[in-house]
Amino acid sequence: MPTGSAKLVDWSTEQRRTIAGVTYLVPPEELDSVVGDGPRYRVDQLRDWLYRTPVLTADEMTNLPLGFRTTIADTLWPFDVEVEQTADRGSTIKWLFRTPSGASIEAVLMGYEKRTTLCISSQAGCAMACTFCATGQFGFERHLDAGEIVAQVAYANAHLRKAPMPRSPDHVTNVVFMGMGEPLANYPHVRESIRRMIETMGMSARSLTVSTVGAVPGMRKLAEEPWNVNLAVSLHAADDDLRSKLVPLNKRYPLRDVVDAADNYFRTTGRRVSIEWTLMAGTNDSPDQARKLAAIARELHAHVNLIAMNVTPLSDERPPEPARTRAFLSQLRDAGVNATVRDTRGREIDAACGQLRVRDAADVPDYPKITEAGGILTLDEAGVGDD
Ligand code: SF4
Repeated sequence: MPTGSAKLVDWSTEQRRTIAGVTYLVPPEELDSVVGDGPRYRVDQLRDWLYRTPVLTADEMTNLPLGFRTTIADTLWPFDVEVEQTADRGSTIKWLFRTPSGASIEAVLMGYEKRTTLCISSQAGCAMACTFCATGQFGFERHLDAGEIVAQVAYANAHLRKAPMPRSPDHVTNVVFMGMGEPLANYPHVRESIRRMIETMGMSARSLTVSTVGAVPGMRKLAEEPWNVNLAVSLHAADDDLRSKLVPLNKRYPLRDVVDAADNYFRTTGRRVSIEWTLMAGTNDSPDQARKLAAIARELHAHVNLIAMNVTPLSDERPPEPARTRAFLSQLRDAGVNATVRDTRGREIDAACGQLRVRDAADVPDYPKITEAGGILTLDEAGVGDD
């Protein structure tokens, strides 16, 4: 999409018409449109294969007739696997998926002793233009459909059935919306994907985490949903001056509004929010920022996750030295805040969001993004308006 024509493509309506029978793009309750005239139980069988016991190929759906398996073989997944990389002795896998429309989607699977966590994307690209983020430098391409979001989880489960990770649960136990995109800017599709994960896949709301850089209307809407998922708020700065430089959305929704919306989420759902903080040397790792962050975390009763930033060729920001990270962490803890340094997986495979794409920097398209309020793509077009 060239700069200046920031039309949001709704894959669900436009593509479904032309690619009939793309299974994950059809809501699980409407799969009879894929099965056609077959018996009713075929719909239940297909739904189970897609959501409960996913398999990599239609050929493995052994209780479905061969002819039907052949029909859906090419449209089982709404994307192709363009890149698969493994790190950390097989306990981190990163996928770069490519949709028929050319959009790239990144997902990272991380195996731990008691959980297997999948980090998924909610948009192709991102309009938020956070200065330190590889995805933010590419700008926004399009929203992902609910089916494209949930298919990332199904694909990871199908992969795990074939090749479980060493010493980790053999299915996705936790999903975090921390890949490409601002999930709350794609609210209807993210909501629908959460509904399918809970109601059709059988995941618990507590195992799902939505991350936001402060899309306040979406945070307030999410608090009213029937499922109390976890909310992670990516602050990265604890005053408006610095935050507006790092996270342009802060000019629309300043820190106080974000903290109030997080507090509302906690009070409405009973779920404590967590605060994400990407540490950048000389930018947000000062004692002054730690002191201000501690005050916010105490107000919200929030846990703080510190993340050393992933270096990207498109940003000058660098992670702090380990001693500086330890000092920042100690200052938070001394102020009574629950804080940890997040394990950064897959460094050797560029596992942070947008990192696979950034390798191909020569191909960076000139997609629209919010550079400041009223920039190329308006906030409403980017899906973070006050509706
Ligand atoms: S940090 Fe998140 S919200 Fe900001 S540009 Fe990157 S993907 Fe978008």
